[in-house]
Amino acid sequence: MSDPLSTARSLLHSVFGFDAFRPGQEEIVRAVLTGENVLAVMPTGSGKSLCYQLPAIARSGLTLVISPLIALMRDQVRALAAAGVAAGSLNSSNEPGENARVMDLLRRGSLRLLYLAPERLARPDTVELLAESNVTLMAIDEAHCVSQWGHDFRPEYLTLGSLARQIGGRLQTIALTATADAPTRGDIVDKLFAAAPRVFVRSFDRPNLRLAFKAKDRSSRQILDFVRAHEGQSGIVYCASRRKVEELAETLNKASVKALPYHAGLDKAVRDANQDAFQQQDGVVMTATVAFGMGIDKPDVRFVCHADLPANVEAYYQEIGRAGRDGLAADTLTLYGLDDMRLRRLQIEQAESSEERKRIERQRLNALLALAEAPRCRRQTLLTYFGEASEPCGNCDLCQEGVERFDGTIEAQKAMSAIVRTGERFGMEHVIAILLGERTENVLKFSHDKLPTFGVGAGRRAVEWRAIFRQLSALGLISQDLMEHGRWSVTEVGWRVLKGQERIELRKDVARPKQGRQGRQA
Ligand code: ADP
Ligand code: ZN
Repeated sequence: MSDPLSTARSLLHSVFGFDAFRPGQEEIVRAVLTGENVLAVMPTGSGKSLCYQLPAIARSGLTLVISPLIALMRDQVRALAAAGVAAGSLNSSNEPGENARVMDLLRRGSLRLLYLAPERLARPDTVELLAESNVTLMAIDEAHCVSQWGHDFRPEYLTLGSLARQIGGRLQTIALTATADAPTRGDIVDKLFAAAPRVFVRSFDRPNLRLAFKAKDRSSRQILDFVRAHEGQSGIVYCASRRKVEELAETLNKASVKALPYHAGLDKAVRDANQDAFQQQDGVVMTATVAFGMGIDKPDVRFVCHADLPANVEAYYQEIGRAGRDGLAADTLTLYGLDDMRLRRLQIEQAESSEERKRIERQRLNALLALAEAPRCRRQTLLTYFGEASEPCGNCDLCQEGVERFDGTIEAQKAMSAIVRTGERFGMEHVIAILLGERTENVLKFSHDKLPTFGVGAGRRAVEWRAIFRQLSALGLISQDLMEHGRWSVTEVGWRVLKGQERIELRKDVARPKQGRQGRQA
């Protein structure tokens, strides 16, 4: 009997035409082949599809692939068919005859992969048909769509677990996503699996992307300079509003840069035409809202610029991740201003969502602000957020240009001792009120005005303290527990600084990058 993995390896060459597995793929394929349930968290472009396509072909039976993206399904079916694999999709936008062909293959038991949108899977006639079709594996792509914490929540995803049971009892499941943060990952495990799956997490580092942030300062000039430095290359400029998308496209065109707008308010025909032009021609700049996103499959996007601060750190990572998917160098620039920060906060507070969700959203926004104001390597800061340790990268603005810093050990000690003396049970605003010496209702209720740290931070304003908190968090000195009302606690590294065993540096421009701050400065 031949080893299933060696079969898989030879199929990797003969069917897919690849020389070797990409990092992470082999372990996942092996786990799937041995019947394990798997959650694979891998960045976009790292080759997630192969992790279920290869086992689907290497074994007998039918693999269901659930995806919300019909265009992507169609591409995959086409590619598989070209490689001689019996694959198909069932959906209402199929050409006439295609659904019949797929049904026929299915009934004869010769279909290997069947792609379905979750709505289609949920239809009773589909469930009935599949229950008789020897389904051996269900692959759930874009699995973060099951999470209400995510930006792509799709309620249909919530039923996938029970549909899998109707189709195949304890149907083996592999869920895949490029969304890495802990709350989303927890949600996927809870909602899609009956028992804890094997979890594989690939590094989120994209070393070929240069990372840079700048405070807004005549931002259309900053954007134009950045785009001009990439003349003839394809790129995306993300804007926070539809109006700005259109205005910026005009500005760029006037400056002889070929730019096209994309947002959900445009006619579908215009949107499709612009997307096609971007996809097929070289050197088109797409000015877009985040509606231009999931499903872009252009490997040689050379730059991504955020004309406005993205919604949060997750969104930032997804959006810059659309550049450089071919692995070659690509450039990113994110512009931010105080208005952006205020707007993003307001959007969170005004949303009709649970307190728990708001807390998570606040933390994700804070992580992005921490990145904008990072005192050290941006990539290290970003990867710390994803739970990865790393060295300074040499490919970000802070590594290359540095930033003015000051010895922030005393500030850090003040903030951390206020956290510790209140029992590590409180959120940021309460701790800041103590530092500032404010007798708020809660400060009085807990007698926190009697603490030795009460008022020790009165020399700085609340905005500065918030920025210091974000930096301490970015440096890994303090961490926030999302499940426990957002309380802050001091980490092991933080304790070393608190005890005076280590010193730290903070950014000098902490709270008000550029824009003429009048506050006191250490
Ligand atoms: P993801 O779903 O993670 O975004 P895909 O599955 O679409 O990524 O794969 C991204 C690209 O990488 C595709 O063009 C795919 O053909 C290619 N690819 C996947 N695995 C390999 C491999 N082992 N060797 C070479 N190319 C690969
Ligand atoms: Zn760096």
